[in-house]
Amino acid sequence: MNDDPLVRDLTFTNVRRETFTLSPVLYRESLEALDRIEQRIVEASGRIAPEETVSLVREIYRIVDGVGKSVTAHMSCSAGCAACCRMMVGVTRGEGEILRARVKEEGAGERLDRWTSGLRARTDSLLSLEGSADPDRPLTTLSDMLATCEAHETKGEFCPFLGSDRLCEIYEDRPLMCRICWTLTDPRDCDPGEGPPVKFRNGVFFKAFDLVIALGKAGFSDDRHRPLPLWLTLE
Ligand code: SF4
Ligand code: SF4
Repeated sequence: MNDDPLVRDLTFTNVRRETFTLSPVLYRESLEALDRIEQRIVEASGRIAPEETVSLVREIYRIVDGVGKSVTAHMSCSAGCAACCRMMVGVTRGEGEILRARVKEEGAGERLDRWTSGLRARTDSLLSLEGSADPDRPLTTLSDMLATCEAHETKGEFCPFLGSDRLCEIYEDRPLMCRICWTLTDPRDCDPGEGPPVKFRNGVFFKAFDLVIALGKAGFSDDRHRPLPLWLTLE
């Protein structure tokens, strides 16, 4: 057993009983890169232009993806394993702008029609959840969001962006929550009513989560963290 507390924190065991350690160097570098984004927000006195905000959100995605890629062989997640795409993904304002641009880019056609009707149906479904008369405001904390996600998951409806091949149709633009689904336990734990799955979590995840919210506020005076379809169907 390694005596270094950081190494211990970064060591995990997966469903195949493999024990692995996230590289402490990569971990520190990733946190430092996130610190620079935080510093940028502080230097800008919490006011950043929307274009720069979106580019900083994309930088957070890049940092998080680097961590994910380094451990992907130890995760249970794989292409086509999409039980998690039933969840109601929480999205912040800068991320919502990325999704809006992606949908607009689609132009027209069968896929856009399918997305539009699916997003509308998911919004209606969310609004019908008990206790969600005003889903926009209560969903500002991670625990509120997770509770709503769980309630919605029981409906067994897939995200409108999931293709018939069970692959994400907006993969490059998918939100932070979809990039950090990293599961250590059996993929069946992600099915509704099973689990809960044990996730690979570390400081990079938590810092990235805080920063996308902070960027929503800095770039758009909007610190909401709300379900994905609401950004695309409601103002
Ligand atoms: S989070 Fe669960 S359902 Fe999603 S890809 Fe990973 S193992 Fe599969
Ligand atoms: S955006 Fe993509 S990865 Fe995220 S829930 Fe939807 S289909 Fe799945």
